[in-house]
Amino acid sequence: MSIVTNKELLDRAKAGHYAVAAFNTNNLEYTQASLQAAAELNAPVIIAAAKSEIDYMNGYAFVAMVKALAERLPIPVGIHLDHGPSFDEAVRCLRYGFTSVMYDGSALSLEENIANTQKVVAAAHACGVSVEGEIGVIGQTTDGPEGKKNEMAGLADPAQCEQFVKATGVDCLAAAIGNAHGLYARKPELRFDLLKDIEQRTGVPLVLHGGTGIPEEDIRKAITMGVAKINFSTVMRKGCIETLTATLNAHPGELDLMKLLTPAKQKMVEIAKHHIMMCMSDGKAWK
Ligand SMILES: [Zn+2]
Repeated sequence: MSIVTNKELLDRAKAGHYAVAAFNTNNLEYTQASLQAAAELNAPVIIAAAKSEIDYMNGYAFVAMVKALAERLPIPVGIHLDHGPSFDEAVRCLRYGFTSVMYDGSALSLEENIANTQKVVAAAHACGVSVEGEIGVIGQTTDGPEGKKNEMAGLADPAQCEQFVKATGVDCLAAAIGNAHGLYARKPELRFDLLKDIEQRTGVPLVLHGGTGIPEEDIRKAITMGVAKINFSTVMRKGCIETLTATLNAHPGELDLMKLLTPAKQKMVEIAKHHIMMCMSDGKAWK
């Protein structure tokens, strides 16, 4: 059995100065590609799904699929709810068998975010499941599984992060430091000064959302400053769709769906491997 909690993954990653790549999935091919890439590189990995992706797949089917594939691999794998919108969704994911849930109350007041996150932590920790909280609003360059387009991102306040982590007991924290979901229109300017302050005040492993398009040197710098989980979603979808489009154009009339999807899946394996190596988690699997 190689299914583990995100707390196990991220505490080790932070101590070992690497980050665990989290790949969003909404079907078999994404999941197989992410797990194959991690297994080929002997890396720990997190398979994540947002509510819309869980609704698309069925939560029970998703967890059963990840477990069936991961149990036979010699790497640790986390099963994570990305941007959980409510206490109810977090509880549903506990029942599905997730090993980590994120509660995203970043659009609420700090007091409401703390109160709701406390409820999620109480329920999740009772089941041995990790919790990720969020402070500050991470931007959204396009509509996507994580939410609607929203370029009015708000940076995390380090004092609020400290208050939030102390009050809630979350296992890790996503803090908005100039990162965004989707494709960046220009090079993102990460606020490393904020990151350093947040790490020193909270001490918990930090999570960087919107990993697609962040330059490799910035990814590595963020890892040295306490980032232990990096989310990659758009880059996998983009690679899949571009490769699938090219294959469809090259083989009009092809009726074998597996022949059409196989090159897209292989492309996602390559993309996932590239990003796992950016996270410096290759060779870091311990079971
Ligand atoms: Zn996110």
